[in-house]
Amino acid sequence: MAYVTRFAPSPTGPLHLGHAFSALTGFDRAQARGGQFLLRVEDTDSARVRAEHEAAIYDDLHWLGVRWQTPVRRQSEHLADYAAALDRLIAMGLCYPCRCTRADIHAAVSAPQEGVTHLPPDGMVYPGTCRHRPMSDRSPTDAIRLNIRAALQTLDPTRLSFTETGPERAGHHRLSVPHLTDRVGDVVLARRDIGAAAYHLCVVLDDALQGVTEVTRGMDLFDATEIQVLLQHLLQLPNPLYHHHRLIRDDQGKRLAKRDNARALSRYRAEGATPQDIRRLLGL
Ligand code: GLU
Repeated sequence: MAYVTRFAPSPTGPLHLGHAFSALTGFDRAQARGGQFLLRVEDTDSARVRAEHEAAIYDDLHWLGVRWQTPVRRQSEHLADYAAALDRLIAMGLCYPCRCTRADIHAAVSAPQEGVTHLPPDGMVYPGTCRHRPMSDRSPTDAIRLNIRAALQTLDPTRLSFTETGPERAGHHRLSVPHLTDRVGDVVLARRDIGAAAYHLCVVLDDALQGVTEVTRGMDLFDATEIQVLLQHLLQLPNPLYHHHRLIRDDQGKRLAKRDNARALSRYRAEGATPQDIRRLLGL
């Protein structure tokens, strides 16, 4: 099968060195295999997305020497695809409406959640307050959550796995039921603030629709893989390889974030750095 990978930034801030590493890693892997490199713009969070960030993504990546297949898939143009996938999961009886705010969830979770996997967009294991609610009770401002225990009951979880090709966790990983139920929990599939499908569903659907054979992204998303593989099985989508690369950290060892403007590629460019300088800085 022809190799296809992708870089999937959200245009909510300037690209930094970590993004450059991710894009170049995917691009180089595609080049080395005679495959395709795709760019996908993850712009469903309309409150945080800015057109100027999207324009800067194209500009920075061009400057870096990265080339991609066009047209670029912009998630905001495909909301009907995500809604249809969500409807399938709802029809399978695996979803419920949730009216809890972050503050409600914090209040319900009395003890600090040790060892919890911090996945976008939740960040906390949901305590299940609304799990008893039927979908018929849904109000337009409710989020939709996946009932993870119900989902696991429809499949044989011992047969679910994924293959990791990244250097830090290379190998075959079986899905862990305790991890999914206790550390990941009932993830949000559609958000209450924007009504649109949330991260996991969009990513899983797009990777399948775009024929991605290997997902290239940072180790910060390694823990998102189990839930995404589960969604692939529920929706009968192909299961790609995963390549989670090392994270680029600042001098204090902290992972770079979009607010770290000091590491923005545009700053390096303005200071006269060349794409080769960036590759050297990243050890590529
Ligand atoms: N849009 C996500 C981000 O910017 C990446 C999603 C992915 O690579 O799976 O962090």
